[in-house]
Amino acid sequence: MPRPIEALVHTAALAHNLSRARQAAPDARLWAVVKANAYGHGIERVYAGMRGTDGFALLDLAEAERIRALGWRGPVLLLEGVFEPRDLEAVSRLDLWHTVHCTEQIDWLAAHKTHVPQHVFLKMNSGMNRLGFKPESFRAAWARLNALPQVAEIGLMTHFSDADGPRGIEHQVRAFAEATRDLPGERSIANSAAILRHRAAGALPDVLVGSDWVRAGIMSYGSAPDYPEHDAAHWGLAPTMTLRTRLIGTQTLAPGDAVGYGSSFTAKRPMHIGIAACGYADGYPRHAASGTPVLVDGVRTTTVGRVSMDMIAVDLTAMPAAGPGSEVTLWGRGPNGAILSIDEVARAAGTIGYELMCALAPRVPVHVTEETAS
Ligand SMILES: *Cc1c(COP(=O)(O)O)cnc(C)c1O
Repeated sequence: MPRPIEALVHTAALAHNLSRARQAAPDARLWAVVKANAYGHGIERVYAGMRGTDGFALLDLAEAERIRALGWRGPVLLLEGVFEPRDLEAVSRLDLWHTVHCTEQIDWLAAHKTHVPQHVFLKMNSGMNRLGFKPESFRAAWARLNALPQVAEIGLMTHFSDADGPRGIEHQVRAFAEATRDLPGERSIANSAAILRHRAAGALPDVLVGSDWVRAGIMSYGSAPDYPEHDAAHWGLAPTMTLRTRLIGTQTLAPGDAVGYGSSFTAKRPMHIGIAACGYADGYPRHAASGTPVLVDGVRTTTVGRVSMDMIAVDLTAMPAAGPGSEVTLWGRGPNGAILSIDEVARAAGTIGYELMCALAPRVPVHVTEETAS
């Protein structure tokens, strides 16, 4: 028998979460963001659940090739654009849309030989100071692009640094709206947090609504972009990834007995613990503190002591019948409909759901399931 760990990708939950993005932005078109191999889920595995999108947004050409190989003929957007001039040949061949965020990318386009003009999104740095043209140089970049025969359509894009937090998006929306006021073209500004917290609330200026493409990343995968202020249930999102395994042993502890490397946990009372076949080599975060929530046979309990490479200890005090073979849900959907949000586990490890999904280890077998979302 193989080691009992596996991950599940829930097709119906992916479709459900995308429909939540549609509800929140009913007049927008939808990019399903599938960078980082669909946030660790696998592009091929999410495709069936996400093909109701209007387009796929991602980062690299190899991922774009894979989307095309699945038969997708609609829009595909490279969120960081091309990395070197010859990438433009693949852009033409695969019929991709691409972001233009720096002068060099415009130079490469100007030198590119193509009969079919390309669809680009010109990116503004409206305050995040990562990629893009500053508002004061945006128009000049737009005018240069607009004069190129290699360019068919120019969309306008920016990205928010604080859509999930107290600083909000207003300062960036204002900078973007002012600098683009009389420029034609589609707009794309909202990530998951902006879709759920700001766009659904009608907090974007009219110039941006109705012509825009929203970019749904993390919400598509059932994780709340602003956890712990709101959780996935608050936003009506369903988990799309389950990581589960089984108990392979149990131990009985007397007061004073320690558990695991570094003896970081010491029992204060008699305890029954189980040993689950999952560790940091599976992508479970080593920094998940003792006390991180976990489900055993669908019942909530907590981890005990340090996470090791291949094993974790869990408290079975409240479930004396559990033993080898009992099902352990590290995150996602447990038996009898119980849900353990990846966001809770991430928080206990000092990180975010995004990182845990993306870090699912290659040694974990992944299965796609049609199981219903709720
Ligand atoms: C990753 C990414 C997104 C999606 O962000 P989420 O927070 O996952 O919704 C949107 N836009 C850009 C430019 C990105 O890089």
